[in-house]
Amino acid sequence: MRCRHPHSQIGAARFCAAAHSVAVGGGGGRTSWSSIKTDRPRVTGLGKSMLARRLPSILPSLSLEEALETSAVYSSAGRLGGAALVRARPFRAPHHDVSVAGLIGGGPVPRPGEISMAHNGVLFLDELLEFKRGALESLRQPIEEREVTVVRARASIRFPAAFALVAAMNPCPCGYAGSSARACVCDLGSIRRYQARLSGPLLDRFDLQVLVPSVDFRMLSAGRRGDSSLVVRERVVEARARQRRRLVGTALHCNAQLGVREIGRYCRLDERSHSLLADLAERRGLSARAVHRLLRVARTLADLAGREELTKVDVQAAVDFRLLDEQR
Ligand SMILES: [Zn+2]
Repeated sequence: MRCRHPHSQIGAARFCAAAHSVAVGGGGGRTSWSSIKTDRPRVTGLGKSMLARRLPSILPSLSLEEALETSAVYSSAGRLGGAALVRARPFRAPHHDVSVAGLIGGGPVPRPGEISMAHNGVLFLDELLEFKRGALESLRQPIEEREVTVVRARASIRFPAAFALVAAMNPCPCGYAGSSARACVCDLGSIRRYQARLSGPLLDRFDLQVLVPSVDFRMLSAGRRGDSSLVVRERVVEARARQRRRLVGTALHCNAQLGVREIGRYCRLDERSHSLLADLAERRGLSARAVHRLLRVARTLADLAGREELTKVDVQAAVDFRLLDEQR
């Protein structure tokens, strides 16, 4: 876990990563993707799935507008049940066998897929590399556009798809690369081949890539739990409120929605931060899109810290969150 946030204990660090992801624009943000790369969990129920399932608990409540949007999707899928409105942020965790149509939408009469059922909420892809390549690649366009158009001979329909994606994968075939618990038995070549199953363009869309250590139950029971969901949620809500105040008078409400022009306006860097970013961009061959993604994350880190100005620390932390990039 390379999070440099003040909370360095395992539990807190996990939540810290989630909080960053969420505050970037979770529950609706185009760029709010979090990849969790894990050690193999040693205690069932304390691993990546538990972390992902807790994510909605630190998200701000659904606004009325969001509730109406999400309810419209559930209604068109015939999944609203007896409820008038969906009140809680969706959490969807499709199995890795899911088809392209099941994931992004489709069928003779177009129906919303998992990405739209997760609109304004969280989509969790556990064991990311077990998903079909076609299904994973089909996510790329909706991530950028925050909606998906399903075209069929008889009909074409657009579904909203603004979701926070959390994905988990093992760091290597045996699952123990980088672990202090057990030695990894994989050679470098097999690790490279394994990680290469995640395409560069898709990896590029994951803003936060972190190693989540396996949890020692004794540490948890000794009370080293870090912040509770409630405390983290307060920080997320405050960071979101800061973003809304900054964007008042525009059609935007969170950092994930910042376009190129807004990034120039709201993510201004001082000279030192600018030269750090320019240096990194050149060394790593970062595209303009990748730089914009880094700046949105840096903006969010400053918001979580309650600061208006971006510093070199924010830029460096945003870069540090891209753990897998570094290894490629
Ligand atoms: Zn291994």
